[in-house]
Amino acid sequence: MRFHFRSAALLWAVAGTAIAHTAAAQPARFLVPAAAPGTRWLKGNTHTHTTNSDGDTGPEAVARWYKNRKYDFLVLSDHNVFTDPATLASLMDSTFLLIPGEEVTTGFQKAAVHVNALGITRVIAAPRDSTLLGTVQKTVDAIRAERAVPHINHPNFLWSIDTATLFRVKNDRLLEIFNGHPTVHNIGGGDWPGMEDAWDALLTRGKKIYGIAVDDAHHFQGEFAKARANPGRGWVVVRARSRDAREIVTALDDGRFYASTGPVVDEINVTESTLALTITRTGDFKYTTQFVGASGEILATDKSLTPSYRLRGTETYVRARVVDSSGATAWIQPVFTSRYRERAAP
Ligand SMILES: [Zn+2]
Ligand SMILES: [Zn+2]
Repeated sequence: MRFHFRSAALLWAVAGTAIAHTAAAQPARFLVPAAAPGTRWLKGNTHTHTTNSDGDTGPEAVARWYKNRKYDFLVLSDHNVFTDPATLASLMDSTFLLIPGEEVTTGFQKAAVHVNALGITRVIAAPRDSTLLGTVQKTVDAIRAERAVPHINHPNFLWSIDTATLFRVKNDRLLEIFNGHPTVHNIGGGDWPGMEDAWDALLTRGKKIYGIAVDDAHHFQGEFAKARANPGRGWVVVRARSRDAREIVTALDDGRFYASTGPVVDEINVTESTLALTITRTGDFKYTTQFVGASGEILATDKSLTPSYRLRGTETYVRARVVDSSGATAWIQPVFTSRYRERAAP
């Protein structure tokens, strides 16, 4: 089903109002995440291809590209092929981890249904179903059945998965809001929402979902250009105790990370009343941070290196978008308040 995004988001918001009124008499306070002592930031990319599917470079050289650029971890996610990190053990050390993964690749009619599986032990067969929703759900379920973590990839690729369908998928927590491949339509257009708008529509409706940025790199040879699927464009920075595959994929699934195409965020502090960031400045770059709430409303703008937002009392969630003076962006995950009501799809 296609619909005009803004009116759909408005309808959803109105539908939620009656329930929210009784439950939300108290002013909102942030649900403060549990303290995470002994954790640190680990940078990684969860979506990359090799010659085991349609990439142009073998697994070892691909892994080395990331290791040489100080990534802490990488998922080699070939289409319906398990590129086993055990075959690349010599590359892994105290600075670099390969997390076993796959891009489970299926479809429904003309729609592409691609879902990454993070933390697998064997290849997961791509399911088929008689509906789009069923195809996505069966894929997510097949990944969860292996105790792996799913993330739904590039929904706007071939305009495949609309927001209403994304809302109805169960047991998924991660959605690509930025994918570095040149033909995936991150920003949307015409009658179709961009991925960040879709993310806010899902959050507003009551689906707890976190936004990730990935490379989806295919091209490591020849010229690096906008029209090619080169590496180094989008990544996640995860808060974890150790460079351990289970620890990292669980932290992603729980939203303990931010996504970025450039800006570096050193601290994310949440109290019952404030969300505060510390941005690590690169060179002479300047930064603008927007705090975003339900329906994608921009609640506040802060141009400092230590942007912060104080709750007014009516918010259901607040997230932050940090944009640097080159246009690169970091997406801080939503912080939910006492007024947020998670809703299962009908
Ligand atoms: Zn894909
Ligand atoms: Zn891919």
